[in-house]
Amino acid sequence: MSDNIHIKLPDGSDKEMPKGSTALDVAKSISPRLAEAAIAAKVSSNGAPAGEGARPTQAGLTQELIDLTRPLDKDTELRILTDKDPEALGVYRHSSAHLLAAAVLELFPETKLGHGPATESGFFYDFYRETPFTPEDLEKIEKKMQELVQQNLPYAREFLPRDEGLQRFKNEGDFMKCHFIEQFTRPDEKISIYKTGKFLDFCRGPHIPSTGKIKAFKLLNIAGAYWLGDEKNPQLQRIYGTSFFSKKDLDAYLHQIEEAKKRDHRVLGKQLDLFSIQELAGPGLIFWHPKGGIIRKEMEDWMRDQYLKRGYSLVYTPHVMRKQLWQTSGHEGYYSQNMFDVMELDDAEYRLKPMNCPGHILIYKDSL
Ligand SMILES: [Zn+2]
Repeated sequence: MSDNIHIKLPDGSDKEMPKGSTALDVAKSISPRLAEAAIAAKVSSNGAPAGEGARPTQAGLTQELIDLTRPLDKDTELRILTDKDPEALGVYRHSSAHLLAAAVLELFPETKLGHGPATESGFFYDFYRETPFTPEDLEKIEKKMQELVQQNLPYAREFLPRDEGLQRFKNEGDFMKCHFIEQFTRPDEKISIYKTGKFLDFCRGPHIPSTGKIKAFKLLNIAGAYWLGDEKNPQLQRIYGTSFFSKKDLDAYLHQIEEAKKRDHRVLGKQLDLFSIQELAGPGLIFWHPKGGIIRKEMEDWMRDQYLKRGYSLVYTPHVMRKQLWQTSGHEGYYSQNMFDVMELDDAEYRLKPMNCPGHILIYKDSL
């Protein structure tokens, strides 16, 4: 039996490497420049998923983003991701969130940790701390992040028996991490931990190899959020930031947010007398004033014209229909907690429609 594995690269070539080689080893064997530019890797192989993040594709392949340092133990297709790959940006930003948490723990060691994912435009991390963070704190945290980038700390992964992991977080008073471990792992499972500086995370990764890879980031703002979205729970402070592969991209993004602020619909709506929101009526409910009403009409007319031009038809169905219909459609059985309350009318119980499809199906049925 050979101790080598076959690695198929995107150009179709096949590399034979010793079992246990990493994506970084593969990158190095191709070119030092690629190894330097590598952010993470993507493997696709036949058979059972290798990890929690793995997703089977239609062809029966399992695809997974992995750390560059994860040992490869079977034949696989491999793609080394660099800053040219959109998927690498998500990994980079998730790692930026870890960098933020590491900096917060350096400066405010009493802070308890929630979670910190990448988002569409950056990342955030949820923290619990009795004293609110101030804008000055954000500046300090950003400086500390910069220092940790200079130190080029590794994102080191280890697997711990669940009990041991839980105990570690319990010792730190990290009630949120304990909750996540209990929620998302089984008692017999080993849990995946990433360590960056003083920051230890229960996290499945993947991550960039080290903090030195993070080239351009900015902390943007702080918002409050209740733990598990319940106002009876402690209030968390969510720090938002963003990061990009280059300073140029970051600056372009920051410029774009400034420009968007000038065009904030809430500001423009008032300035141009288009609409208002009435406290007495409720937040987020829009009252269209005459000028706004005209804009709305123009947009609706345009939209309907487009529908007809593109071969769609128009139908209208009632907003409120008998409960029986929702029983037939299955909404009542699976979805009733998320629907508005039953309205008792003269002859029966009615409910506001949660979706249009059952109404449309009745139109089809009528012509069968
Ligand atoms: Zn994480």
